[in-house]
Order: sequence, then C-alpha cells, then structure tokens
Amino acid sequence: MLTIGVDVGGTNIKSALIEVGDAKNGDTYKILEFVSIPTDAKKGRDAVVANIIKSIEHFDWKICEAIAVATAGTVDWDSGEVTYATETIPNYTGTALSKILSEHFNKRVVVINDAVSALIGEGFLGAGKKKSGSVMMFTIGTGLGASLLTGETLDSQTILDTKLGHFILHEEGRVCTCGQRGCAEQYVSATALKRYGNDNLYQLFHTSDISQKKILSDFYKDLSAVISRSAELYNPSLVVIGGGVIEMSEYWWQSFLKEYRSKCATPISPANLGNKAGVLGSVYAYLNGAFKNQ
Ligand SMILES: [Zn+2]
Repeated sequence: MLTIGVDVGGTNIKSALIEVGDAKNGDTYKILEFVSIPTDAKKGRDAVVANIIKSIEHFDWKICEAIAVATAGTVDWDSGEVTYATETIPNYTGTALSKILSEHFNKRVVVINDAVSALIGEGFLGAGKKKSGSVMMFTIGTGLGASLLTGETLDSQTILDTKLGHFILHEEGRVCTCGQRGCAEQYVSATALKRYGNDNLYQLFHTSDISQKKILSDFYKDLSAVISRSAELYNPSLVVIGGGVIEMSEYWWQSFLKEYRSKCATPISPANLGNKAGVLGSVYAYLNGAFKNQ
C-alpha cells in the first residue's frame, strides 16, 4: 500500500512516498521518493498550507491510500487541528489542517505533532526497532524536547510529550524564554551551544580552545544529568537522542558516552533515521490505527 508522509518543520517541509508491505513489520517500509522544500514559515499560515499542498502534489498522490502529516505545533489528536503554535509560523494556531487537506485532496488525511511522529518513527522503525519496552526520546534542537512511548498500541494514552526541557537543572541559572531560571534547555540545546560556545557547531566539536572544551564537557555533564534524572522518573528501556546536534554525533558521541555511563545504566542510542523520522513515524502511526477519530 502507498501512503504519503509529510513533516512540516520550521525550516523545511519534508515529504515522502512510502510503500508498506505489512504495517506492523518495520522491514517492509520503503521510501520510494523523498523531497524537501522550504517551509517559508515567516510568511505565515496561508503560505505554509500552500507549500504543504505543493509538497504533496510533487507525488502521484491520487494513487495513495492516505496522507499522514507531522507538523510543528500542538496538535489535537482527534480533530487534526493545530491548537497551538509559536510565532515561528505566524497565525498557524487554530489551523484545521486535517480538514483543509482532506477537502483539497478528497483523501483521508491525519495530522500528528512532529516530535511525537519522530518518536514513533525512531521507536518502531529506527533506533528502537526490534527492541521491546518503552522508548524515551530527547530532541536536541532549538530547544530540548522529551517524549515517551510506553506501549505497543499508538494513541494519546501511550505517548507522553513531557516538558522536561523546562525542568530546573541549575538553580538561579540562565534566564529561560519561559520566565524561569536555569531550565535544562538553556544548557542542553543547539541554541545554548551556539550562544555560549561557538556559532559553528562543527568548529566547536573540533576545538582545542580550553574554554570551549569546558563548554563541551559541561554539555556532556548536563545532558547526562537530564537523562539520568528522567530515567529515574520514567524508567525507559531505551533512550534515543535526536535533533540537529545528532547529525554531528560522530564527533561527540564517544566523549558524551563516557560521562553518561558514569551516571546512568539505561541503554542509549543516537537516532538513526535522520530527517526521515517524521515522515516515517506519521505513516507508521496511521497504518497502525493511531487515529480513531481523524
Ligand atoms: Zn524554561
């Protein structure tokens, strides 16, 4: 069966034509074609919706069974509406994305949050494939996201999107966008590494400068602390680390792992689907009955 997966991020809209033999068997998911176009987020809701349509029309969409969309913003699991989005995409809050797209294409369209979709993708088709038990994923990007997948069935009851990026890691620490001081994401995010280390992360991970080396060792300590405390709370079987920083994991993963192992015994793995986790996760969720009402 053929399904189109779409992943609407702040920078790019990724979309893929995906062929699946057996919905439950991760080995049968094949990406036949993959495209990425700019989101044009700053132009706001109408431009973004037009670009989503354009990205779907790139494929022979008429032969597809359905379209599964992952998007930035908070998404209502039953209605497929974006109930909250930051100003990254102006006026995106309140967009009835599932309704708009299903009317346009006259197809079943389901919509899910992008972090949740990436977790499902990595949990069932990527780093967590063939492993049993719960999977917790941390996404190190502009901020720090953390979500937990607790069961084999897929619905709003088995997926927890936590707010761990805003738990206080350092009392009286750096001021956060949320108004608190010392939130985890002020230390464990690409934004923090760029602001306090080096704007060029490749250079930062290759630095010989002592003060920049200290920033990296603090980053490994802080990331290890966030994960070990979360593991005490949620006791996942596997921790997966994703986000833009993981694309450079070959330069830092071993140094981090040394620090992590001294604090935490929970198995850990870098995400391995790259920028395809979102499109695969939304299609997997759709084919495995995650959307009862959309
Ligand atoms: Zn905060």
